[in-house]
Amino acid sequence: MDLPKRRLVIVSNRLPIVLEKNAEGWSVTQGSGGLVTALAPVLRNRGGLWIGWPGSSEDNLEEPLAVAAKETGYNLLPVFLSNYEMEKYYHGFSNEILWPLFHDLQSRCKFDPEYWQIYQQVNKKFAETILQNTQKDDYVWIHDYHLMYVAAELHNLKSDLTVGFFLHIPFPPPDIFVKLPWRSELLHALLEYDLIGFQTLRDRRNFIQCVRTLIGGTHIQGKGQVVTIQMRERVIKVGSFPISIDYKNFEQQTETKEVADSAWYIHENLGERKIILGIDRLDYTKGILERLKAFEKALIKYPDLHGEVAFIQIVVPSRENIDEYQVLRTEIEQMVGNINGRFTKYGWVPIHYIFRSLDKYELHGYYRTAEIALITPLKDGMNLVAKEYCACSVEENGVIILSEFAGASAQMHTGAIMVNPYDVESIADALYQAFTMPRDERRVRMHKLRQSIKKADIFWWVDSFIQAAFTEKLYSFPVLEDYDYSAQVADRSSVKF
Ligand code: UDP
Repeated sequence: MDLPKRRLVIVSNRLPIVLEKNAEGWSVTQGSGGLVTALAPVLRNRGGLWIGWPGSSEDNLEEPLAVAAKETGYNLLPVFLSNYEMEKYYHGFSNEILWPLFHDLQSRCKFDPEYWQIYQQVNKKFAETILQNTQKDDYVWIHDYHLMYVAAELHNLKSDLTVGFFLHIPFPPPDIFVKLPWRSELLHALLEYDLIGFQTLRDRRNFIQCVRTLIGGTHIQGKGQVVTIQMRERVIKVGSFPISIDYKNFEQQTETKEVADSAWYIHENLGERKIILGIDRLDYTKGILERLKAFEKALIKYPDLHGEVAFIQIVVPSRENIDEYQVLRTEIEQMVGNINGRFTKYGWVPIHYIFRSLDKYELHGYYRTAEIALITPLKDGMNLVAKEYCACSVEENGVIILSEFAGASAQMHTGAIMVNPYDVESIADALYQAFTMPRDERRVRMHKLRQSIKKADIFWWVDSFIQAAFTEKLYSFPVLEDYDYSAQVADRSSVKF
């Protein structure tokens, strides 16, 4: 990649570290997610800075942050937020408006004008911190829905920085986006970025349609992964960059003795039964209730599944201070209880329910050993669990049932069994199809999936975004694959592989 050696400044809601206060002072743990793994070498090579909320309201963090910076090899700069700001900007505007709206669930939105006011205020705080700590030549890359308004605030502050933005969650179609009382302000704010990145062509198409619907005098040009929007004197690049995982790392981890042992223990207790695996953060977008209904339907429709499958549903606690999430947890637990109460027989419990987060050996163990992954979000930016499952399916034995509305569907539809997550009948059929799928077909499908994820891993994702930021040769980007509903809905079994 022949790019100018400019310093990279990453900005996200949270810094990629966990700070904990103990008797001796502060302890710092590095973040371990795919995003941090992929960005760390780039930040170290070009010299870098990461700006974000430190996860604590205490403001004497200079020392632990300096210690953390030594370990990471790049600098960390905190943006301090009060409890009130976190309440309104993070829990409020981000998670009670943008999150449901952008996942097409507008009836769950709480359109509180105070949320919007504090969202702008906090985005301004981020903009001020960026401006005070950068130089003109730095490249600033802002992440996710918490910080969509930062470029507008930078503009108000007369900044001439080059700024890119990546949205990790979906972007909704115009019919839904226009419900937002501040739709025009937010859309104009996004157009202040120099490059806007989305997960999929679907999201980019939705965004462009919103721009066409709400803003006059724009001209869209190009085709392929990155196109441009011309608006007055400005040209804004808009691309789709499907995020991915550190494939090699997942594959290697899965081949360790610890993971092999963990996989063995998981299966040993279940005998010859095939494992159906669901792993989700507790969230109403993940379709967990619909999935449980579909599993129940499968048990009713296909009695030969009785005693032959074990559905392991792992739910990772999340956003526990929002009432709706507590209600969802209760509903899930009631439904699990009902289904188990109805179908359990001597020596067989259909659903094994786990409500906690797993350590990495357990997680990889479940991925490696489960014969079927049931991943049915109602809508998802990407869904990394789907990609991680494939990377860990080192025996190429697993079958993945995937929602059409996960961002991952565009890349994974030829290898996965695709389902509409609202269609419990068809998920039940897909489960039976996966249960009875011959070994050869499973191997061919999984091999294909693994090859494609290996090729477009997290490092490819970082490279393609940064290349798009710096190059004018947008025609050199490939046309990405899109999800084709007509090919799937007509006849699932006719998909060629
Ligand atoms: N994960 C985790 N702990 C667990 C189970 C899962 O950290 O106990 C991780 C998983 O490896 C994946 C992420 O949580 O990287 C979930 O990402 P995804 O894109 O599927 O959904 P999100 O939660 O971001 O909406």
